[in-house]
Amino acid sequence: MAAKNPVVHMKRSFTVALLVLVMLVAVCQKHLEMMLFTSLSIQKQMGNGCTGREVYDLLQIMRCFPVEERDSCDFQDGYGDGRTYGGKRTHEGIDIMSRSGKRGELTVQSVSEGVVEQVGWLPLGGYRVGIRSPEGYYFYYAHLEKYAPGLKKGQKVDAGQSLGLMGDTGYGKEGTRGKFPVHLHFGIYRRTQGSDESLNPYYLLKYLD
Ligand SMILES: [Zn+2]
Repeated sequence: MAAKNPVVHMKRSFTVALLVLVMLVAVCQKHLEMMLFTSLSIQKQMGNGCTGREVYDLLQIMRCFPVEERDSCDFQDGYGDGRTYGGKRTHEGIDIMSRSGKRGELTVQSVSEGVVEQVGWLPLGGYRVGIRSPEGYYFYYAHLEKYAPGLKKGQKVDAGQSLGLMGDTGYGKEGTRGKFPVHLHFGIYRRTQGSDESLNPYYLLKYLD
């Protein structure tokens, strides 16, 4: 019986390592191709000047649906619809409607990591939260019934972290409720030199679905 040849053994180990590496590269490439394909098809559907790069970024950044109890709500593509409260304007987001219509029942969660940039009352948005992701995108959550305890400006949040409860606040002075059905208004904005520009979150939400 011949003793184990260390050179043969090394060659074998090297071959195995090389095979594993090739497989890893292939898997990564497949994943990248899939992401690129998904980005391009979503970009095509979004159609409103959103670049493939932005869609690709957003697919990486957005890690979860903005409502924890996904099965208890519905949404449609209402982006760009007409709105009249507070002057004639278009709808800069997607309304995720509570099926039960009960305020304070469903949990609004951050889709991404980021920093709380805005928190507090707005006549249009009611109790709202704005989260800025490290890549510069602004995620806007409006009409909350109440905030997660201790939520404050400058705070760091993770994807999936609770921001508060879904409600129907807004369309009036602070504390106004009941002017429309209970829902989360969810918006995505890109940072520009001037004011931020809204993007249609619909197809990204569909993807997260
Ligand atoms: Zn809305």
